[in-house]
Amino acid sequence: MNVPVNPRDLRTAFGKFATGITVITVRSGDQDHGMTANSFASVSIDPPMLLVCVSKKARSLGVISECRQFGVSVLAEDQQSVSNHFAGKPVFDKVVFASLGGVPTIKGAIAQFGCRLDAIYDAGDHAILVGEISAYSYCEGRPLLFQDGGYRELSIAPLD
Ligand SMILES: Cc1cc2nc3c(=O)[nH]c(=O)nc-3n(C[C@H](O)[C@H](O)[C@H](O)COP(=O)(O)OP(=O)(O)OC[C@H]3O[C@@H](n4cnc5c(N)ncnc54)[C@H](O)[C@@H]3O)c2cc1C
Repeated sequence: MNVPVNPRDLRTAFGKFATGITVITVRSGDQDHGMTANSFASVSIDPPMLLVCVSKKARSLGVISECRQFGVSVLAEDQQSVSNHFAGKPVFDKVVFASLGGVPTIKGAIAQFGCRLDAIYDAGDHAILVGEISAYSYCEGRPLLFQDGGYRELSIAPLD
């Protein structure tokens, strides 16, 4: 039986979990498309796999289901405008994408993964996309963080 839930309140509870921010990218024909997502998780090392949860309302879901490949780019601290842009608050007139193993990715990201779609699991108003990683790269840099509904930066002060 479903517990009655206030959606805004549940979002607030989920927002207590600090995450990085990614952009999920996909190529359809000669058109690249991106969407911001913080539901990224690593899944498996052997074989290498990751997951992301995508709203059933997102245009990206249909495109990824069709072309069976997608990219995941982990945004750097200075890429807040990129996160806003791919979350439906356009900032740039035009975006030039990078490419990794034939999959579009985001320039300046601190990690990039190119994936083959392994499975899609139905999960309420979202779908869980599991990707098998076919290529990846990373570089030094601090991540952009998201917590309590806002962007945060990483404090590198060590804890005792
Ligand atoms: C911090 C954060 C985390 C989020 N996490 C998730 C999540 O985990 N899962 C989830 O489902 N939703 C998440 N969202 C919401 C999601 O980012 C938006 O709902 C998004 O708009 C859905 O994208 P879409 O596929 O429907 O594409 P659209 O809304 O069509 O595209 C997204 C935006 O990207 C721009 N864009 C796309 N391709 C290009 C291009 N080639 N050139 C220039 N601009 C382009 C569009 O102009 C549009 O503004 C998150 C939002 C934020 C802010």
